[in-house]
Amino acid sequence: MPISDATLRTVTRQTENGPESYSYNPAVEAEVKAAPEWATAITTVDKMSRTIKCDSKKCENQTTFDPQSAEAVVALPDWVRTYRMVTLGNGARFGYCSDVCEVEGVTTGDHNVPEPKQVQEATGADMQRVIEQAKQVEKLKTKPSKKR
Ligand SMILES: [Zn+2]
Repeated sequence: MPISDATLRTVTRQTENGPESYSYNPAVEAEVKAAPEWATAITTVDKMSRTIKCDSKKCENQTTFDPQSAEAVVALPDWVRTYRMVTLGNGARFGYCSDVCEVEGVTTGDHNVPEPKQVQEATGADMQRVIEQAKQVEKLKTKPSKKR
């Protein structure tokens, strides 16, 4: 997903060396397990984080910010202003930071909704009809030349 929201929990504690903070996503079990014990022991207000990513394979643009913070929104990189989304008929979404990346994405063919293959086998009757039609065409072609 080019734009994804996550709820991050950021906790801070005072240590001998000053304040120490730790951020993790409480909805992801692995992140909760990886978090230090003191961090999971503290309960604080969860903070939202939004990640915007360019889907061009040749582009590294990606940013994570707090959509509820006006300062964070103002500080967003310039490419976010030209960010655009492409939504396919099947609901798949792609996001690009610029015209260049959008064109890059289009040329990969990823935007084509995969269509179920339609295999039509020609029956014997079909073949016979085609042969008959071909014969009729040949007759029409050869008629004028016979008159000469
Ligand atoms: Zn890009």
